Amino acid sequence: MTNQNLVVANDMVVQLDYTLTLANGEIYDSSDETGPLEYIQGQGHIISGLEEALYGMAVGDEKDVVVTPDLGYGEYDPEAVQTLPLDVFPPDMELEPGMAIDLYDEDTDEEVEAYVAEVDEDSVVVDFNHPLAGETLNFHVKVVGVRPATDSELDHGHVHSDGHSH
Ligand code: ZN
Repeated sequence: MTNQNLVVANDMVVQLDYTLTLANGEIYDSSDETGPLEYIQGQGHIISGLEEALYGMAVGDEKDVVVTPDLGYGEYDPEAVQTLPLDVFPPDMELEPGMAIDLYDEDTDEEVEAYVAEVDEDSVVVDFNHPLAGETLNFHVKVVGVRPATDSELDHGHVHSDGHSH
Protein backbone atom coordinates (compact mmCIF):
# COMPACT_ATOMS: atom_id res chain seq x y z
CA MET A 1 0.00 0.00 0.00
CA THR A 2 1.55 3.27 -1.07
CA ASN A 3 0.28 6.79 -1.21
CA GLN A 4 0.61 6.92 -4.99
CA ASN A 5 -3.10 6.83 -5.67
CA LEU A 6 -4.25 9.36 -3.10
CA VAL A 7 -6.29 12.24 -4.43
CA VAL A 8 -7.68 15.39 -2.86
CA ALA A 9 -10.79 14.47 -0.85
CA ASN A 10 -12.42 15.46 2.41
CA ASP A 11 -10.20 15.06 5.50
CA MET A 12 -7.01 14.84 3.46
CA VAL A 13 -4.06 17.09 4.25
CA VAL A 14 -3.19 18.83 0.99
CA GLN A 15 0.04 20.62 0.14
CA LEU A 16 -0.49 23.08 -2.65
CA ASP A 17 1.85 25.20 -4.72
CA TYR A 18 -0.04 28.17 -6.09
CA THR A 19 0.25 31.48 -7.84
CA LEU A 20 -2.56 34.00 -7.47
CA THR A 21 -2.87 36.53 -10.28
CA LEU A 22 -5.43 39.33 -10.25
CA ALA A 23 -7.48 40.42 -13.25
CA ASN A 24 -5.06 43.31 -13.88
CA GLY A 25 -2.19 40.84 -14.27
CA GLU A 26 -0.60 41.59 -10.90
CA ILE A 27 0.79 38.53 -9.12
CA TYR A 28 -0.73 38.99 -5.67
CA ASP A 29 0.64 35.98 -3.87
CA SER A 30 2.68 32.88 -4.59
CA SER A 31 3.91 29.85 -2.70
CA ASP A 32 7.34 30.54 -4.22
CA GLU A 33 7.83 32.94 -1.33
CA THR A 34 6.05 31.12 1.47
CA GLY A 35 6.34 27.44 0.60
CA PRO A 36 3.33 25.26 -0.21
CA LEU A 37 -0.01 26.00 1.40
CA GLU A 38 -0.96 23.14 3.73
CA TYR A 39 -4.55 22.65 4.87
CA ILE A 40 -7.25 20.03 5.50
CA GLN A 41 -9.63 19.62 2.55
CA GLY A 42 -13.36 19.99 3.15
CA GLN A 43 -13.24 22.18 6.25
CA GLY A 44 -13.61 25.58 4.61
CA HIS A 45 -10.06 26.64 5.43
CA ILE A 46 -9.54 27.99 1.96
CA ILE A 47 -12.00 29.92 -0.22
CA SER A 48 -14.78 27.69 -1.50
CA GLY A 49 -14.20 28.35 -5.21
CA LEU A 50 -10.67 27.02 -4.92
CA GLU A 51 -11.45 24.16 -2.53
CA GLU A 52 -14.22 22.83 -4.81
CA ALA A 53 -11.91 22.79 -7.84
CA LEU A 54 -9.28 20.64 -6.15
CA TYR A 55 -11.32 17.49 -5.45
CA GLY A 56 -9.88 14.47 -7.25
CA MET A 57 -6.49 15.99 -8.05
CA ALA A 58 -3.44 13.78 -7.46
CA VAL A 59 0.12 14.72 -6.54
CA GLY A 60 1.74 16.37 -9.55
CA ASP A 61 -1.54 17.50 -11.11
CA GLU A 62 -1.71 21.17 -12.13
CA LYS A 63 -4.68 23.32 -12.97
CA ASP A 64 -5.84 26.87 -13.62
CA VAL A 65 -8.80 27.88 -11.45
CA VAL A 66 -10.79 31.09 -11.89
CA VAL A 67 -12.66 32.13 -8.74
CA THR A 68 -15.36 34.78 -8.98
CA PRO A 69 -15.91 37.09 -5.95
CA ASP A 70 -19.01 35.21 -4.75
CA LEU A 71 -16.88 32.07 -4.27
CA GLY A 72 -13.84 34.05 -3.16
CA TYR A 73 -13.68 37.00 -0.78
CA GLY A 74 -17.12 38.42 -1.55
CA GLU A 75 -18.28 41.49 -3.40
CA TYR A 76 -16.86 44.84 -2.33
CA ASP A 77 -19.29 46.54 0.08
CA PRO A 78 -18.92 50.34 -0.05
CA GLU A 79 -20.90 50.58 3.21
CA ALA A 80 -18.24 48.61 5.07
CA VAL A 81 -15.91 51.59 5.37
CA GLN A 82 -15.65 53.73 8.50
CA THR A 83 -13.77 56.83 9.51
CA LEU A 84 -12.41 56.54 13.04
CA PRO A 85 -10.73 59.22 15.14
CA LEU A 86 -6.96 58.78 15.20
CA ASP A 87 -6.90 58.75 19.00
CA VAL A 88 -8.70 55.38 19.24
CA PHE A 89 -5.39 53.86 18.12
CA PRO A 90 -2.38 53.50 20.41
CA PRO A 91 -0.13 56.56 19.90
CA ASP A 92 2.91 54.44 19.07
CA MET A 93 1.09 52.45 16.40
CA GLU A 94 2.46 53.20 12.96
CA LEU A 95 -0.59 53.19 10.73
CA GLU A 96 -0.01 52.68 7.04
CA PRO A 97 -2.47 52.19 4.19
CA GLY A 98 -2.97 48.49 3.50
CA MET A 99 -2.03 47.25 6.96
CA ALA A 100 -4.35 44.78 8.67
CA ILE A 101 -5.67 45.70 12.10
CA ASP A 102 -7.86 43.90 14.61
CA LEU A 103 -10.75 45.91 15.95
CA TYR A 104 -13.12 44.99 18.71
CA ASP A 105 -16.78 44.96 17.71
CA GLU A 106 -19.00 45.78 20.68
CA ASP A 107 -22.12 44.50 18.92
CA THR A 108 -20.83 40.97 18.41
CA ASP A 109 -18.23 40.93 21.20
CA GLU A 110 -15.69 39.71 18.66
CA GLU A 111 -12.47 40.90 17.09
CA VAL A 112 -12.85 41.75 13.44
CA GLU A 113 -10.06 42.18 10.94
CA ALA A 114 -10.00 45.39 8.97
CA TYR A 115 -7.60 47.26 6.76
CA VAL A 116 -6.30 50.80 6.92
CA ALA A 117 -7.45 52.57 3.76
CA GLU A 118 -6.28 56.10 4.49
CA VAL A 119 -4.48 57.95 7.29
CA ASP A 120 -5.35 61.62 7.78
CA GLU A 121 -4.22 64.17 10.34
CA ASP A 122 -6.76 63.25 12.99
CA SER A 123 -8.71 60.40 11.49
CA VAL A 124 -8.22 56.99 9.93
CA VAL A 125 -10.36 55.45 7.21
CA VAL A 126 -10.82 51.77 7.96
CA ASP A 127 -12.09 49.28 5.39
CA PHE A 128 -13.79 46.13 6.67
CA ASN A 129 -13.80 44.53 3.23
CA HIS A 130 -11.17 41.89 2.58
CA PRO A 131 -8.42 43.39 0.36
CA LEU A 132 -9.45 40.90 -2.35
CA ALA A 133 -13.19 41.62 -2.10
CA GLY A 134 -14.66 42.14 -5.55
CA GLU A 135 -11.65 40.59 -7.27
CA THR A 136 -11.80 37.70 -9.70
CA LEU A 137 -8.92 35.47 -8.69
CA ASN A 138 -6.83 33.48 -11.16
CA PHE A 139 -5.04 30.63 -9.45
CA HIS A 140 -2.49 28.32 -10.96
CA VAL A 141 -2.21 25.39 -8.59
CA LYS A 142 -0.10 22.25 -8.37
CA VAL A 143 -0.75 19.54 -5.80
CA VAL A 144 2.56 18.60 -4.17
CA GLY A 145 1.31 16.43 -1.33
CA VAL A 146 -1.79 14.50 -0.24
CA ARG A 147 -2.14 12.36 2.88
CA PRO A 148 -4.95 11.42 5.25
CA ALA A 149 -5.23 13.77 8.21
CA THR A 150 -4.50 12.16 11.57
CA ASP A 151 -7.20 11.82 14.19
CA SER A 152 -5.73 14.63 16.26
CA GLU A 153 -5.47 16.91 13.20
CA LEU A 154 -9.15 16.31 12.47
CA ASP A 155 -9.91 16.85 16.12
CA HIS A 156 -8.01 20.15 16.21
CA GLY A 157 -9.09 21.28 12.77
CA HIS A 158 -5.57 22.14 11.64
CA VAL A 159 -2.46 20.51 10.20
CA HIS A 160 0.30 19.35 12.51
CA SER A 161 3.53 19.88 10.60
CA ASP A 162 6.60 17.70 11.03
CA GLY A 163 7.90 17.67 14.55
CA HIS A 164 4.86 19.46 15.91
CA SER A 165 2.17 17.69 17.88
CA HIS A 166 0.01 18.62 20.79
ZN1 ZN B 1 -3.35 20.95 17.02
